[in-house]
Amino acid sequence: MEKCSFCVQRTQLGKLQAKMENRPLAGDEVQSACAQACPTSAIVFGNQNDKTSTVAKIREENEGRLFYVIESIHTLPNVNYLAKIRNTDEIIVGENNANEHARQEEGLPVTPQHEPATEEHK
Ligand code: SF4
Repeated sequence: MEKCSFCVQRTQLGKLQAKMENRPLAGDEVQSACAQACPTSAIVFGNQNDKTSTVAKIREENEGRLFYVIESIHTLPNVNYLAKIRNTDEIIVGENNANEHARQEEGLPVTPQHEPATEEHK
């Protein structure tokens, strides 16, 4: 298995074309293969520094749902995720989510990425 290269060949091609046309690379101009192939647009690729790009707008509009992997140790990766939206009006208790709802009722965080780091992970 290979690591993700963020489709460097596509990024370099887009940069080269923009350079030959003597213009800056637009924030949504380069698309990764996985973003292009995703039928639900669950993957968004772009330049977050271009405030007009789709990825920058999604990050701005979903600030409360935005999280990074192991952000508790301040890794600041380029990839972020959006937490799933939970229906807090109706509690559906089942085998798999009983503990999660119990934690929610006690006011404790329910998503692992928001749990405070334990002593062994500091
Ligand atoms: S297709 Fe997606 S996962 Fe694969 S290298 Fe490109 S950006 Fe990475």
